[in-house]
Amino acid sequence: MISLAGGNPDLTSLPLTALGKSAQAIIAQTGQSALQYGAGQGTEELRTQICALMAMEGIIDASPDNVAVTIGSQSALDTITKILCNPGDTILTDEATYMGALGTFSGYQTDVQPVRTDGDGLIPEELELRIRALQDAGKRIKFLYIIPNFNNPTGITLAARRRDRVAQICRAANIFVVEDNPYGLLRFGGERLPALRATNRRGVIYLGSFSKIFSPGLRIGWALLPPPLVQKFLILGGSSTLCPPALNQMLVSAYLRDFDWQAHLAAAVATYQLRRDAMLAALDRCMPAEVTWTKPEGGFFIWLTLPKSIDTHALVHRALDDNVAFFHGAAFLPVPQRSNQLRLAFSAIPAETIAVGVQRLSRVICDAIGMAGGNAAQPARDAGTDPDEP
Ligand code: PMP
Repeated sequence: MISLAGGNPDLTSLPLTALGKSAQAIIAQTGQSALQYGAGQGTEELRTQICALMAMEGIIDASPDNVAVTIGSQSALDTITKILCNPGDTILTDEATYMGALGTFSGYQTDVQPVRTDGDGLIPEELELRIRALQDAGKRIKFLYIIPNFNNPTGITLAARRRDRVAQICRAANIFVVEDNPYGLLRFGGERLPALRATNRRGVIYLGSFSKIFSPGLRIGWALLPPPLVQKFLILGGSSTLCPPALNQMLVSAYLRDFDWQAHLAAAVATYQLRRDAMLAALDRCMPAEVTWTKPEGGFFIWLTLPKSIDTHALVHRALDDNVAFFHGAAFLPVPQRSNQLRLAFSAIPAETIAVGVQRLSRVICDAIGMAGGNAAQPARDAGTDPDEP
C-alpha cells in the first residue's frame, strides 16, 4: 500500500541521539519541574522563543504575555471556537480547508460558509460580498479561518497583495481573522510572505505549531492573541487541558536553544521539495489531459481537479484495491457535497514511491474517466510501467 493520504512530516533529519540525551538531561537535572504541573500559559522561555520564531514570519511586535502554549495548534483552534462561537454562529473559510478545523467547528454547532478562492487564495472581493450577504441575512459571523501558506488541502498560498486587504475587510466588518500557519516556514524558494498578523495586531488571532517544523508527537502549538482575549483563552483552554505538558515544552525549548534547528529544518524542507518535484513530474507523466493540479511552493499537499462527472469519494475504495490511498475532496468542504477533487500528500514518502503511487492512481482515474464517458481514458503521456509490479 502506498499512502498519498496522510500529511505526516518527515522526521529523518532530526538528531535523535542528541535529542535523547537532551531529554535525559532535562529529566535528570530539572525533573522536579519537568514532571510537574506547570503554568497554564506555558513556560516563559518557550513563549519568548515563540516570539522570536514568529519574527521570521514578519510578526515583530509579539509579547510573550500574549502567547499561550497549547496542545498542538488543534487545541488552540478548539479554544478559540469555544470562546467566540455560540451554536448557529457563522465561520468563514477558504473554499476547501483543513478537515480537522471543520471537525472542531462542527463540534461547536457552528455554521461554516466557504468563500470563493482562486490560485492566489481567498478572493477579497468575494469575501466582501459574502460578508454583506450573510450579515444582511441576519447571520452572526464570528471569524474567518484561513491557512494563508500552502493551504491544507490545496497547497495554495494567499497572495501578498491580498493579505492586508483580507484583514482590513474583516476588521471593517467586526470579524476576527484566525490565521492558522503551521506550514509557513516550509517554503521551497522565493520570499517568505509576511503573516496577516504582521500588520494587523488587533483583529488577527495567530496559530502556530511545532508539529511540522519539529515533532507532531510532542503536541506543542500556540496562539498569539489580541490582549483582551488572553485571560478568556487561558480560562477556557485550561478547562480542558489544565496546562501544556512541561517536559515537552522543555524539550522544544532545548531544541530551539541548543541545536542548529534551522539546519535540520532546511534539510527537511529540501526533502519535501524533492518529493514535491517527484510528485509534479509523475503527475505530468501519468495523468490524463482532463486532470489538473496545483503547484505548491511549500508545505505538504497537491490538490487535483478531475472532470466534473467524477466523484472522488467513489474512487477511494477502487484506489485502495490498487494499493494507493488519497483523501477525497469532500472531506475538506465546509458544506457537504460531492467533489471532483482530491488531496495528495508528498511529505511522508520517498520520491520513487511517490512515482509508483501516482502511477497507480492514474490508472484508477483513467478507468473512472473512461467509465464516465470521458474521451481520454489514456494517460496524456507515456505512463511507462510500474517498477514494482511485474
Ligand atoms: N492546522 C492545519 C492547517 C493542519 O494541517 C494541522 C495538522 N495537520 C493542524 C492545524 C494541527 O496541527 P497540530 O499538530 O499543531 O495540532
